[in-house]
Amino acid sequence: ATPTAVMVGTGVGARLGVLIKGGEPLELLHGVDTIVFDKTGTLTVGKPRVVSVSMLGDQKPASEGAGAGCCAGKPTSSLTPVAAQGGAGASDASATSCCSGGSTAVKAPASTAAASSRVQARRMLALAAAAERGSDHPLARAIVSGAVDVLGEAEASLGADRFNEEAGHGVSATVEGSAVLVGTRRWMARHGMVLTASAEEETAAMEVLGRTAVLVAIDGAVAGVIALADEIKPDARDTVKRLQAMGVAVRMLTGDNRRAAATVARELGIPTDLVQAEALPSGKIATVEALLDEGRQVAMVGDGINDAPALAKATVGVAIGAGTQVAMDAADVVLVRSELADIVTAVDLSRVTFRRIW
Ligand code: ADP
Ligand code: MG
Repeated sequence: ATPTAVMVGTGVGARLGVLIKGGEPLELLHGVDTIVFDKTGTLTVGKPRVVSVSMLGDQKPASEGAGAGCCAGKPTSSLTPVAAQGGAGASDASATSCCSGGSTAVKAPASTAAASSRVQARRMLALAAAAERGSDHPLARAIVSGAVDVLGEAEASLGADRFNEEAGHGVSATVEGSAVLVGTRRWMARHGMVLTASAEEETAAMEVLGRTAVLVAIDGAVAGVIALADEIKPDARDTVKRLQAMGVAVRMLTGDNRRAAATVARELGIPTDLVQAEALPSGKIATVEALLDEGRQVAMVGDGINDAPALAKATVGVAIGAGTQVAMDAADVVLVRSELADIVTAVDLSRVTFRRIW
C-alpha cells in the first residue's frame, strides 16, 4: 500500500471511531488470524451486579438443608437485591425465581431458623462490603452498591482496617474485630480456608449460570457466597460470528472462573477449547506469548489494567475506549465508541488497504 492509502485507511478508521496508531498496526491487522478477547468489560458490559447472597448451611444437619427443588442441600438462606434483576442472559430469570424465591430484598422469614439465617446473611454482606470499600475493582464496587441497596447506607458502611488487595484474587480486612476475606477459591486457600462441600456446590451452581461467585470468609471459616452477574454486550455475539466467518480464530481469556467463562463462551459461540479462564495478569501475557510462538498473528482485545501487558505483547493490541487509560496507552488500536463490531471494521479496513483478497 502507498503512504496515501495508509493515510486514507487510518483517516477512514478515525471517522468510524477506530483509532489506529499509524501505518504499522493498520498493516499488521490484515494478517491477524487469532483474536483473543478479555471477558469482563470487553465481551461483557463490565458492570456486574449482585444477584444473590447465600449463607452456607454446613453447620446444619444434612436433612434440614435438603429442601425441595433446585435449592436442595444448598444455602440456608439467600438475599436478592431488588435492584439487581436481569443479569447475564436468559438463564437468569429461572435461577432467581428458583433459588431465592422472589425478588424482594428481605422477605418475611418462614421460620425462626430462616430468620436467623437472614440476619447472618445481612451481617455477612455488611462485612464483605466494608472490606471491599477500599477496592476499585468492578466486583468490589458492585458488592458495595448491592449492600447499600439491600441494607441501606448506614448498615452497609462499617469501618474497616488492615485492608489488603491482591490483583486477580480478592481483598482482606478487619471489620469490627472480625477477619474478613472476600475473593476467589484460590484466595481462600491461600489463607488456609477449607472449602466445604456446600461451599463448592453453591459456588458451582452460581458459576454454571455464568455468574461470578465471590466467597466470603469470616474469622477463619467460609461463611457464604455473593453471586454477581454481568451482561454480555449486545453486539458481542454477532461480532464473534463475523470474525469467525472471516477465518479468524476467536478466543477468550479471563481472570474469572472457568464455569462462568464457559457459559459466556457458549452464548457467544466461542468453542470451549479456545477459552482460558482463571488467568492471573501474568498468565494473560504468557497466553499471548504462547500463541505468538505457535506462529500466530494475534490481536488481543481488552479494557483493564491487567490486560495492558498482553495488549503490548500481541501483534496488535486493541483497547476498548471505555476501558482504562493504561490499556489505551498500551494498545495500537482503540475502539473509541467501545463497540465490539468496530474490530471487524478495523480488520476490514486493513484488508482493503493492503488489498488482501479473502
Ligand atoms: P478479569 O480478567 O475478568 O478482568 P480479574 O483478574 O480482575 O478479572 O479478577 C479475577 C477474579 O479475581 C475475579 O473474577 C474475582 O473472582 C476475583 N477478584 C479480584 N478482585 C476482587 C475483589 N476486589 N473482590 C472479590 N473478588 C475479586
Ligand atoms: Mg476486563
